[in-house]
Amino acid sequence: LNVARQATGTGSRGHRQITRALNIVFVSAEVAPWSKTGGLGDVVGGLPIELAKRGHKVLSIAPRYDQYADAWDTSVSLNIDGETVRFFHTREKGVDRVWVDHECFLAKVWGKTGAKLYGQKSGRDFNDNQKRFLLFCKAALQALLVLPFSPGSESVMVCNDWHTAILPVLLKDVYQPAGQFLDTKAALCIHNIAYQGRFWGDSFGDLGLPASSAAKFEFEDGYSRIFTEDEPDTEEKGRGLGKMYKKINWLRAGILSADKILTVSPNYAAEIAANPQLGVELDDVLREAGGAEGIVNGMDVSDWNPAVDKFLDVKFDASTLEEGKALAKETLQAELGLDVDPSKPLFGFIGRLEEQKGVDILLAALPEIAEKGDVQVAILGTGRKTLEAQVKTLQKEFPGVAGVVKFSSPLAHLITAGADFMLVPSRFEPCGLIQLHAMQYGTVPLVSSVGGLVDTVKEGVTGFHMGRFDPDDMLPADAAAVAATVARAAEVFPTEQFQTMRAKCISQELSWQAPAKKWEAVLEGLTHPSE
Ligand code: ADP
Repeated sequence: LNVARQATGTGSRGHRQITRALNIVFVSAEVAPWSKTGGLGDVVGGLPIELAKRGHKVLSIAPRYDQYADAWDTSVSLNIDGETVRFFHTREKGVDRVWVDHECFLAKVWGKTGAKLYGQKSGRDFNDNQKRFLLFCKAALQALLVLPFSPGSESVMVCNDWHTAILPVLLKDVYQPAGQFLDTKAALCIHNIAYQGRFWGDSFGDLGLPASSAAKFEFEDGYSRIFTEDEPDTEEKGRGLGKMYKKINWLRAGILSADKILTVSPNYAAEIAANPQLGVELDDVLREAGGAEGIVNGMDVSDWNPAVDKFLDVKFDASTLEEGKALAKETLQAELGLDVDPSKPLFGFIGRLEEQKGVDILLAALPEIAEKGDVQVAILGTGRKTLEAQVKTLQKEFPGVAGVVKFSSPLAHLITAGADFMLVPSRFEPCGLIQLHAMQYGTVPLVSSVGGLVDTVKEGVTGFHMGRFDPDDMLPADAAAVAATVARAAEVFPTEQFQTMRAKCISQELSWQAPAKKWEAVLEGLTHPSE
């Protein structure tokens, strides 16, 4: 392997001197800020930059969904399965960003990069997604060989989520048996195990893989519960009647083929291997593969930094925390039509209005929250229409509660800065960014005790824990737990303990620096296992 290239690291920000530069290639359906629907885009935006700073040669490869102004046409094109793909290139912050150009990406998504990467609407995937991402993965592998600035096959490829989970399968079952890519390793990082790439079983033939690969993909889903005749005619009963369907599952095959599995927090790693409910039916193959290694995500400390935040009139840092937050709170209360009153504890919520985020549990807790104490709540989000409708009308029912249904970065930043507390009542949360952003602004998070929230928030020190919530149903006990934790936090609010907690929150180092070191160790172990 490539040991000749001795990297020195940049040294400029005190990074340790690495002795060996790795060739690291991230393959992903999203790369922020060019393309993003969630945490996946943020990771592949931020982590490569930090690894490059440490002296590694780092590329990311993603589809070209739009005419990115900063990307030039390499004029390298390839024929893959009768389709012509072209490569575009951006070099920024020490990282080579490769864009795979084909009409199935650009023509479908063009101009709507924000949200329509996978389908016209969330939950409605394009029906050729299997073909799109197969073509993408094949192009990503060939990119290693054909681009002048590529590191060649002696690389570790980091695949991300189901869209690229077929790449390790191609490597192990197609290319390596044919004598190609023998020195390439493939890691797979799971950002959210709920999305797996499940397709109809009879489409396996479309993948062009050897028959011997089929077993890795085999999966059944449907409605395992048999409904009896006398049960009421619910929608579920109408659809299912205990039917199971033969499917293929890309993520399952990726887990069984990759050289290493990673995920975005240690606690989520433990959860998804624990049982079928938490592992969304892939717990068994995860255990078979030796489990996933969890590394907590870093956050973007240039975008989310109260000392330079362009959305704040008055910036602040740890030394000006009290005044800075007081001013932001005043602005926020005025903007949302809440009483401008520093003595009322203000709780924020920012996120997709989906069951995953537990916003329905929060809404169910509001009557008790309003009854128990003189507190304010500010909710910002978009998502499911029924939840949007409820959030819009909150202020009429509860004078201390403001609900805003839009996607607004300025308001997200103002809530993060101006709230005293941030509510994160997720049913599951692989890592979670909201609580990291909050803490960086001295805002104390109240979190459910799941996934990365457990790894990043310490009860009584940097936040409050609410326990776990039922993953499928809305239980009154869960709403009561949210209300009780809000009451607990409201009691702490006027005390010295609150000041200590928020000072502790803002003093933490939450950038990509520490996670990048951990990633480096894992990838190093993969490329040089004997050392
Ligand atoms: P997920 O990736 O599951 O949606 P994360 O907590 O990892 O959840 O990240 C959510 C990101 O999206 C955060 O940066 C948050 O500020 C942002 N966000 C979510 N909803 C909104 C909104 N309505 N307006 C502005 N930003 C939002």
